[in-house]
Amino acid sequence: MTEDRISRRRLLTGALAGLAAVPAATLIARDARAATEVSETEEAAKSVGYVTDAKRVNAATNPTYKPGQTCANCFQYTGAAGSAVGPCRIFPNKTVKAAGWCKVWVPQQS
Ligand code: SF4
Repeated sequence: MTEDRISRRRLLTGALAGLAAVPAATLIARDARAATEVSETEEAAKSVGYVTDAKRVNAATNPTYKPGQTCANCFQYTGAAGSAVGPCRIFPNKTVKAAGWCKVWVPQQS
């Protein structure tokens, strides 16, 4: 009977440890997906005119663009200050270059 209790206790402990590991594994997987950088050639990026370097924005075809606008100072950007890349709300689970730009650029709220 005692061995049964120990066995059940170990089983329960193992199951709880397994359950605790699931959220951690989910977070790790989410981080790995977030690390995928948006490519200028993918359809979603092309549809909003995303470029990895705002200095390459064609002002003739993007009249809303103003020098100084970059992903780093866009409301949609959620990357850490000073980082070279970070997440963008319009590209779920991906990152964009902080120096990039697209037609969806909106100023950060102060
Ligand atoms: Fe960059 Fe903003 Fe466009 Fe996202 S929405 S790609 S942060 S300019």
